[in-house]
Amino acid sequence: EPVWVGVDVGGTKVLAGVVDDDGRVGATARRTTPGRRVDARMVEDALTEAVLEAADGRPLAGVGVAAAGFVDAEGERVRFAPHLPWLDEPVRSRLAARWHAPVRLENDATAAAYGELVLGAARGCSDVITVNLGTGLGGGVVIGGRIHRGHNGMAGEFGHMQVVPDGLACECGSHGCWEQYCSGRALERYARERDSGLLNGRMVTAAADEGDLEARAAFAELGHWLGVGLANLVAAFDPELVVVGGGVSEAGDRLLEPARVALGRSLVGAGHRDIPAVVAAQLGNTAGLVGAACLVRDEVRGDGD
Ligand code: BGC
Ligand code: ZN
Repeated sequence: EPVWVGVDVGGTKVLAGVVDDDGRVGATARRTTPGRRVDARMVEDALTEAVLEAADGRPLAGVGVAAAGFVDAEGERVRFAPHLPWLDEPVRSRLAARWHAPVRLENDATAAAYGELVLGAARGCSDVITVNLGTGLGGGVVIGGRIHRGHNGMAGEFGHMQVVPDGLACECGSHGCWEQYCSGRALERYARERDSGLLNGRMVTAAADEGDLEARAAFAELGHWLGVGLANLVAAFDPELVVVGGGVSEAGDRLLEPARVALGRSLVGAGHRDIPAVVAAQLGNTAGLVGAACLVRDEVRGDGD
């Protein structure tokens, strides 16, 4: 039986999974992302290993690739990727030739938004904003029940909206980008600045659960920046719902509650409008690979988005 596989390529890890017709994730496989200053082929090797391990000898019906970068409107090239070595590379056709299978290439956060729209927290919704907190901050835009991609296919790059003029340097080359203040990496920095001894997001989450005050303060700071940025997005798009995904979102209300407070404080006309609910992604950290697998499947079957 041929299988549909989705693979999420982030700045830190590659996660592949077999996805069934109902969007359930079966076997998964992960690799560490080789880095940003390596040959692009090394990332493709890691991708290939993860995809083949997850498929475990079964033929590939199609593979959806959710990549942390700027994918062109045709879904052919990764034009630019702050955390990956791809630069104007025809990733889709190269992988399709290598895997002898149909490949669909999509931005990771957009793929996650599709997953949440079809199977997760945004099911049945018309107007939604999604943000994904990982190495960076990715975004997705749903308008009228459909994914909005923009002219270049690059809509939703919220992580690089400037929130602090002359602020921290970003891997994209700019300064003061939102993802420098709101992402998994930012959480690690907030924990480090408090000398908490907590080295990664997972440790900060666990410590916060156990009542560690430094860890809780780090989440409060992260959540505050999340809400401040969301206020701008809500002002721009007026969504009915905001979905927050990525590894860090597993902290739930520890992150979302300060975000709701900051959103309520910063949003224009807050007393005179519905303020959208801010909820955690239902598909958790598999949203990207599930969304990508659904996209390739729907495209191959001809009922694509
Ligand atoms: C990239 C996005 C990506 C996000 C999350 C950002 O730095 O520019 O394309 O979606 O990180 O991985
Ligand atoms: Zn940036």
